[in-house]
Amino acid sequence: MTEQVYFFDTTLRDGEQTPGVSLQTPEKIQIAKALAQMGVQVIEAGFPAASPGDLEAVAAIAREVRGTTICGLSRSVISDIEKAEEALKEAERSRLHIFIATSDIHLKYKLKMTREEAIEQVKECLAFAKGKFDEIEFSAEDASRTDLDYLCQIFEVAIEGGASILNVPDTVGYMTPEEFGNKIKYIKDHVKGIDKAIISVHCHDDLGLANANSLAAIKNGARQVECTVNGLGERAGNAAVEEITMALTMRKDIYGVDAPLDTKQFTRVSKLVSKLTGVVVPPNKAIVGSNAFAHESGIHQHGMLNNPETYEIMTPESVGAEKTNIVLGKHSGRHAFEDHLERLGFTLEADKINTLFKAFKQLADRKKHIYDDDLMALVMDNLDRKQAVSLIHHHYKSDEIGFAYADVRLETPDGILEDAAVGDGPVDASIKAVQRVIDKPLHLQEYRMRAITEGKDALGEATVKVECNGRLYHGRGISTDIVTSSVNAYINAVNSIYLTEALELKK
Ligand SMILES: [Zn+2]
Repeated sequence: MTEQVYFFDTTLRDGEQTPGVSLQTPEKIQIAKALAQMGVQVIEAGFPAASPGDLEAVAAIAREVRGTTICGLSRSVISDIEKAEEALKEAERSRLHIFIATSDIHLKYKLKMTREEAIEQVKECLAFAKGKFDEIEFSAEDASRTDLDYLCQIFEVAIEGGASILNVPDTVGYMTPEEFGNKIKYIKDHVKGIDKAIISVHCHDDLGLANANSLAAIKNGARQVECTVNGLGERAGNAAVEEITMALTMRKDIYGVDAPLDTKQFTRVSKLVSKLTGVVVPPNKAIVGSNAFAHESGIHQHGMLNNPETYEIMTPESVGAEKTNIVLGKHSGRHAFEDHLERLGFTLEADKINTLFKAFKQLADRKKHIYDDDLMALVMDNLDRKQAVSLIHHHYKSDEIGFAYADVRLETPDGILEDAAVGDGPVDASIKAVQRVIDKPLHLQEYRMRAITEGKDALGEATVKVECNGRLYHGRGISTDIVTSSVNAYINAVNSIYLTEALELKK
């Protein structure tokens, strides 16, 4: 039987540490369900000790998501383990992911500990964690810059303490493939009891090598990869689940292992994550970028028409990127609507579907053909996000020479407030009006508008980055009216600011 690689998805933990990203619990649950459907074996749902909001989100995912292991991150600190236990108690299968930094630079400057003290701490924590989780993964933070013999020593301690997965993170993204592969081989050859454990890797993309390093590790005996959808994560991000899987699948002749994920869901899950996080996928991104299967040059097109294999190593269908057809219109019934939502991977309660169906009918009045992407946008716009600020009224007027006026009325934590502003165009005026209402130093850093599907009546999706007190916040909004989408995106970002600040007060 062929060996398989286990996929440990950390979109909701490391991915959520992408600058500017903050997901709310209902959004995290939708992503977790999509990941489970896609077939990942482990979902790292968050870091329960980080804040009460994180703990609540991990607990909700543990309660609602089935068919996969739910994992919580924890420092090597007793109170962190207790929080993880509380968060994971309703999981079908639970995993503690406990870590300690092991490189001399981290030990000295961050933990202010000796190597021996770190080993003692790990022993104590594992003894405490034993029996509280279905399985334990131990991570040596900054493993790639850790003295290799000390790394082997601490891994032996972890195995004795009951850890069955040993993770080797390239925390700073410094490794090259051959070097990293050799490290994995060394660990496999030198750690006593390693045959009872699975070697895992967690690679960062600072040098653009996260995927290559992960693959080199697999070639040398690693059997779990930690990765994220679209390669999200701290700084340059993590290894990308879709890229590693397709490399293992297309080049099984080289790697000789199974990557048992449902690859046909990659495009859908990529879009879901991109929309909910507000992080746009570059068009040239492998596998899930919008140009990944586009052939521009005449010579290529000619070859493709004669035989697709001339320039295409895999089909768009294999990753779910085939052209979407018109799915629904004004006369589609509730049943057809519900069927399509299910096919798109959304499992929702009956009253939620009723609300969405109403929104769908309203959209169908304004837009003739409703595509899959429109439906996804509709669902995502109607997830039950907590709202600190919501738009009650918005009105704008503009003339041909670029002068515009806008007024807004908002419900805010300080009551219902309204204001008006003038600007160079309706979007500018509307955003200025919102800024006048919100008593915070807001700076619009980035603004994008794109049509979700084709046609004059397409939904416009606005994404914004707003800076407030030195931090970035993403927001997105959709509507058939681009001024409304822009204001929705801006208010969406403002909501993230309020919610992040509220969580920080609780910490
Ligand atoms: Zn990381």
